[in-house]
Amino acid sequence: MSRLSPTRTKIYRTVARQLHGVVPCWVCGEPVTAADATLEHIKPVSDGGGSHLENLAISHAACNNRRHAKATQAGVVR
Ligand SMILES: [Zn+2]
Repeated sequence: MSRLSPTRTKIYRTVARQLHGVVPCWVCGEPVTAADATLEHIKPVSDGGGSHLENLAISHAACNNRRHAKATQAGVVR
């Protein structure tokens, strides 16, 4: 089950338009479908990153989770 965020949908559409319909995953580089897209902060909000377009990237839900799990496990966020 996925929760659709208006911001995520907007950014997905913006990127899709810029890249002729294909939105690559920020983590693995494979194309992401709208249903599987999650919004990623490139620079964490806690680290001064904003929620504007240039700090946001689309990634697979699985890649997003894996990235955060790995960061937590290693104790390193960046
Ligand atoms: Zn991915």
